[in-house]
Amino acid sequence: MRRMKGAWPITIGGLLLALLAVLWPLAQATAQGGESLTTCIRPMHAGDNSRTLLTQAGDFDFDCTRNQSSYGVGDFWVLSQPLPVIAGDVRDRLAVGFASTWQDATALHILYADGQIRTVAFTSATTAPYLLLGPTIAVPLPHEETRPVRILWEAHGAANMRGVVRGARIGPYADMLAVESSLGLTYGVILGVVVGLAVYNIALWPALRQPLQPVYCLLLFFITGYTLSSSGLIGQWLPWLDNNERHRWNAIMLGGVAMTLVIFSRYFFERKVFEGWLDRMAAISFVLIAIPNIAFALLAPRWIIVLDQAVLLGFMVLLIFLIAVLVQAWRRRSNFLWAFAIAWGTPIGLAMFRVLHALHLIEWRPWIDQSTVLSMGVEALVASLGVAYRIYLLSRERDLARADERVARRLADTDPLTGLFNRRAFLEQAIGRSGPQTLILADIDHFKRINDLLGHDGGDEVLRIFANALGEAAGMDMLIARIGGEEFALLADAERAPSPEALLARLRAIPYPSGLSVTASLGVCTGPIADESDWRLLYREADQALFAAKDAGRDRACRGATITPAPQPSGLLPVLRPHTRMLRRG
Ligand code: GH3
Ligand code: MG
Ligand code: MG
Repeated sequence: MRRMKGAWPITIGGLLLALLAVLWPLAQATAQGGESLTTCIRPMHAGDNSRTLLTQAGDFDFDCTRNQSSYGVGDFWVLSQPLPVIAGDVRDRLAVGFASTWQDATALHILYADGQIRTVAFTSATTAPYLLLGPTIAVPLPHEETRPVRILWEAHGAANMRGVVRGARIGPYADMLAVESSLGLTYGVILGVVVGLAVYNIALWPALRQPLQPVYCLLLFFITGYTLSSSGLIGQWLPWLDNNERHRWNAIMLGGVAMTLVIFSRYFFERKVFEGWLDRMAAISFVLIAIPNIAFALLAPRWIIVLDQAVLLGFMVLLIFLIAVLVQAWRRRSNFLWAFAIAWGTPIGLAMFRVLHALHLIEWRPWIDQSTVLSMGVEALVASLGVAYRIYLLSRERDLARADERVARRLADTDPLTGLFNRRAFLEQAIGRSGPQTLILADIDHFKRINDLLGHDGGDEVLRIFANALGEAAGMDMLIARIGGEEFALLADAERAPSPEALLARLRAIPYPSGLSVTASLGVCTGPIADESDWRLLYREADQALFAAKDAGRDRACRGATITPAPQPSGLLPVLRPHTRMLRRG
């Protein structure tokens, strides 16, 4: 955590900036959306006539109090209040905006002050030209000499899941288009962030191979899909796409986000968080979200209201599941609790609003739809920090494990008394070297007497001083190890090995406690050390030379026979390497 401290202010600053870039146009979008209109509803009856309904509205039983959705699926008339006078030039083109909902055909009958009525009609297949990013439908009103005074919507095949005409407003068309560019920027930023995050996760996949990464990319895919389908973007890009089909895709994408989120949370946390009932709850939640979403995608508009309510229930299950995840993560002391809570706090909060709205506890506002997209963009960004933090913790764990392994290895390789390599590590590094090698075995003379004189601890101290001096005298090029009680081995390329006499002279010059003088005898031998049997031969020769040095009075070096490698067989046929070596007495 400490190493990341410096990165936090930058990261949080960057996040705030990104948020501002997204929130500013959104705030503008809601501010400039025109003046809102209240509407009244009336189911369509045979013989209804738009002119009479518009001009003699008072004679008809329009319902202005009940929730429109309480009428269920059907064909409806929706009447606006008398239109407000919009400030500005009379030549400014006005437009009426309202939320895009599942509807087969829609017509707007516009009553003008001089009594004339104009109609704009479209079907779900021809909605695209009117679709704004919001996603709202904006219908520019035909220009007439007098101003429009009232609007009557004629809606056929309205699914009426949350109202037939929602969020109706009137304002200059130019203002609505200006909002478009602001919203366009918002969507651009969100899509840029999401695509960028997906690219960097895919790029890191070969190096990190965390199962979380593909799941996160899938999540980003659905978020991108939802951003496109929930906005008018897809309608503008694919003008032939039926608007009702867009609603279907929207449900598929949002369902995809929800289902992937269940899997994502499962991989995001440590195993301990999901052990036990939460694992089962994850599976059940997944199924409860998947079934209504898949059913909606396949069956709508059949049983659309029931399916929509089931989808909504699925989202409530998701909310409860996510809360359970947070609680378990807190109880099991997960490292990733805060990363997850911050990343999903906003979408979870906004999902609450959607649920409250769907339960008719709060009114619909354009930002409810837009904020979902926005929150997903924010979430994708923050979740990437979570993913990064998780990857950071994992790589730190791996680094620590590697460091531990290095320490353990070093301990296993070192002689604890002198700090030199032990016999095992020496052999591991010696055997297999190419070219002729010189092996020097050094054995302290009459060490038993030193022990007798100084005690075992004093003897140990002498061993340490001797080992240290041997290391310095040998230099960097030599491999050096303590291979027995008071016996040391030195190995170097033949041409780099120090002269044994010079080595002896340096060893003689080492000062010891109590003015003790310590000498050593050396056995030297040069030869190949390509494999185990080479080593045995070389060691035997050096040991015999050492024995000879002891025999000859100690404090001296004796050289064993130089071992020359057996001549390499010429010709192409592989021939077994002979084990016999030619010995040449030096
Ligand atoms: P030589 O000159 O023939 O080599 O005589 P030496 O006494 O040095 O040889 P010997 O092999 O007879 O005795 C080696 C002694 O080293 C015996 C053992 O008690 C002592 N020794 C071995 N390992 C250690 C150790 O780690 N610490 C101490 N203090 N003594 C050790
Ligand atoms: Mg000895
Ligand atoms: Mg010995």
